[in-house]
Amino acid sequence: MTIGVILNRVFRINNNPLFEYIHQNKEEIEKCYLIIPQEIFEEDGTNMKANYYYGVMQSFLNDLRQYDIEPFLLDYSDLGDFCEDKSISEVIVAGDIMSYHQESYDIRHLKKAFNKHNITVTTVRANHYFKPSATMNKQGEPYKVFTSFYKAHRSKLRKHDSYAYKLKNLSDLFVKSQQKLNQDYSKYGLSESKAIKKWNDYIDQDIQNYETNREYLPEVLTSQLSIILAYGIIDIKQIVTQLIERYEEDEHNIEQFIRELMFREFYYVLMTHYPNTAHEAFNEKYRDIKWEYNKEDYKSWCEGRTGFPIVDAAMTELNQTGFMHNRMRMVVSQFLTKDLFIDWTWGEDYFRTKLIDFDSASNVHGWQWSASTGTDAVPYFRMFNPSRQSERFDKDALYIKTFIPQLNDVTPKLLHEPFKHEAELEQEGIKLGQDYPKPLVDHKEARDHVMSVFKQI
Ligand SMILES: Cc1cc2nc3c(=O)[nH]c(=O)nc-3n(C[C@H](O)[C@H](O)[C@H](O)COP(=O)(O)OP(=O)(O)OC[C@H]3O[C@@H](n4cnc5c(N)ncnc54)[C@H](O)[C@@H]3O)c2cc1C
Repeated sequence: MTIGVILNRVFRINNNPLFEYIHQNKEEIEKCYLIIPQEIFEEDGTNMKANYYYGVMQSFLNDLRQYDIEPFLLDYSDLGDFCEDKSISEVIVAGDIMSYHQESYDIRHLKKAFNKHNITVTTVRANHYFKPSATMNKQGEPYKVFTSFYKAHRSKLRKHDSYAYKLKNLSDLFVKSQQKLNQDYSKYGLSESKAIKKWNDYIDQDIQNYETNREYLPEVLTSQLSIILAYGIIDIKQIVTQLIERYEEDEHNIEQFIRELMFREFYYVLMTHYPNTAHEAFNEKYRDIKWEYNKEDYKSWCEGRTGFPIVDAAMTELNQTGFMHNRMRMVVSQFLTKDLFIDWTWGEDYFRTKLIDFDSASNVHGWQWSASTGTDAVPYFRMFNPSRQSERFDKDALYIKTFIPQLNDVTPKLLHEPFKHEAELEQEGIKLGQDYPKPLVDHKEARDHVMSVFKQI
């Protein structure tokens, strides 16, 4: 039998269930085409993300070369024709990936494309812990509330053994391609060995301060595992195994960390059961909200020119690094959807073009949480006040100053609400409207508007 193995964002040599599948079925397999479908990033502003993606892929290709394996690099749109041409009767593919740049790369579209060519599709788990079909509640329905999901499934996490395959023993089965990436991306991305080291260092040291570090803004002190997981560089089962092995060293912090990973699982399960929520409010009652579509305000938000330094610093962090702290993701998304009252799908889309850890389920449901349209979302009356968030989480304005250097010499307490300190700021060399923007909105008026719209529904 000739099979195709589709390595869609499972960029790892170790603990890779697709390789395990080949190992388990090697008696029946005569030939195997290892195929990496390449994602296309043609929109403006996606450069950083595209470079990161291709950087990760290049490292993976280098690692495979050590085993004399040279995969085929194809566009998604050519997969069906290629497989038919090579007489491939079955393809094996990771069925649980949510991190794609375009929706058309997801498993539903992929299955349709292969079905058109009468090619059997076998899916394997590769990037999430739980199978959505095995996570229903007692009534046979998907969980809609995180805490119930967490309570029901936390005890199912357990240690896992490594897979049995040895890649060097499989390499003779693979047909070799002559293809190369058309550019050198070695400056970008993350290799598997570096990702493993980063994660091992994190679990050896920093996880012990997870609860406090999670809210620390001036530096990234969280794991940044979101990036590793978005490209499938380490298996989530391996991560869970390590967390359980270390559990007794620091139950409190490790449990907090596991809880966050369970959020990722929860959102993945939800998106699988409710794919429509990628585009519409999870909560049906909020589907007809008349959002604003003010392009000027949206542009100011994207470019970090809202006049609220904490928001502007966060948007600059995103634009410069492709990453943003979780707290700040909540602050800027609330600012866009509540203070500016702009449709959450616009913000979700902007994050998609910028975040190198973009994952459509976590992103969509993170946005819907902030917009109060999601499952288990923040109630609309708990609207964040950006100035209070700034005072609380960036008291000394260290984060603000890291990303807005023109405010470096300003007394920190003036930076939480600069518009209330115009004269003092001028004395410190900052003229509002010239050196730093005036505020785009009055928070109190915006709050009144949000309350009145939501209350009427
Ligand atoms: C508006 C908004 C958009 C978001 N978009 C994304 C996205 O595109 N991709 C993404 O991976 N996460 C997203 N998140 C969730 C969260 O912000 C990131 O997972 C986290 O900041 C990544 O940093 P870390 O790996 O250092 O996190 P850590 O604090 O070290 O957490 C460990 C892991 O737990 C998971 N996790 C932590 N917080 C959350 C959360 N709130 N929801 C789901 N999983 C979580 C992630 O896998 C993360 O890697 C979004 C949150 C919001 C509010």
